[in-house]
Amino acid sequence: MKPLRTELERRRQQHLYRRRRIVTRVQGVVIRLEGRQLLNFCSNDYLGLADHPRVVAALRSGADAHGVGSGAAHLVSGHSRAHHALEEELAEFTGRARALLFSTGYMANLGTVTALLGRGDTIYQDRLNHASLIDAGLLSRASFRRYAHADVPALRRQLEGHTRGDAMVVTDGVFSMDGDLAPLLPIAALCRQHDAWLMVDDAHGFGVLGETGAGILEHYRLDGEQVPLLMGTLGKALGTFGAFVAGSEDLIETLIQHARSYVYTTAVPPAVAEATRASLQLVREEGWRRERLQQLIRYFRAALLDLGFSLGESPTPIQPILAGTAERALAWSDRLERQGILVSAIRPPTVPEGGSRLRVTLSAAHSDAHLEQLLQALASLDRAPLQCA
Ligand SMILES: *Cc1c(COP(=O)(O)O)cnc(C)c1O
Repeated sequence: MKPLRTELERRRQQHLYRRRRIVTRVQGVVIRLEGRQLLNFCSNDYLGLADHPRVVAALRSGADAHGVGSGAAHLVSGHSRAHHALEEELAEFTGRARALLFSTGYMANLGTVTALLGRGDTIYQDRLNHASLIDAGLLSRASFRRYAHADVPALRRQLEGHTRGDAMVVTDGVFSMDGDLAPLLPIAALCRQHDAWLMVDDAHGFGVLGETGAGILEHYRLDGEQVPLLMGTLGKALGTFGAFVAGSEDLIETLIQHARSYVYTTAVPPAVAEATRASLQLVREEGWRRERLQQLIRYFRAALLDLGFSLGESPTPIQPILAGTAERALAWSDRLERQGILVSAIRPPTVPEGGSRLRVTLSAAHSDAHLEQLLQALASLDRAPLQCA
């Protein structure tokens, strides 16, 4: 056995060590962390729904009606009226025949890819896809091809070389560490041309993008024919917990039969499904949350350019600020924290070597004053050119 301590020490020296912080209280975007009150700019609660009174009330009355635990997997006795109603509402909202609830997005990705692909098939993935998609591809035993980020010509060449078995192209809709959008129009066209499955992981677009908040497919006006597999998560903009896959009748029935991370796990508590139903209702009723978010994004980007930071392409609430080294990303994050602002440093292997960054996320719950506070703190960061070691 190799000594674990050595590896942990190495990670620490490379500024890659991860530690957990204890949150004692959350009130909207204000968070109490290890006794200190901080303004949170790294939550995925983009619409400010996680502690919305109607969502909290739905959770409470859901627990009164159903208890807490679902007691079993969906195929045994865990599939409640609340889960079923939520599935129907998600299907309707995304314009698909059906939707299937999973306990987490990670499990939705694992279950879906492994149910549809096996040895002899090939999965094509954007190099910056989320870890759960990478793991899903590996677990499926299909051949694994990765293409450079958003590189449609590279994907075209790979698909042209596809000879046997099923092909599936899988991509994040909104890339989780960069905030940019996958070029889904040309990718969808390529997939149809090559008779390949297309799966879009819309963890960060669902609730945020599109006129009604239905996500990146609504944004691009892509339908279920063009993108047969849509995955969305409920723990981000929806502010609750869980995930779903939406698609055709046959797709969902296939997942119910074969998706192991669906079959062999306990169903999410029904009260959580009730809370998500309330939150989905708010997404539909309160378009102002998306408008407010867009306004904050525009303002933030303009202000950051004024400060001389270089920005990526992101039109979403995920706004990375590139630091380069892990050490600098950590130093920046520490400095912001001393000024009362929480923004996490993202380091390898979550991002490529040299791509360490602050990942700022904006929420409709941030006020103009909150944003000003963030901008002032960012202006104080040391941006002197890095010394070469
Ligand atoms: C967060 C995330 C997931 C995982 O979803 P969970 O419900 O947190 O397990 C999957 N894909 C992407 C792109 C994500 O950002």
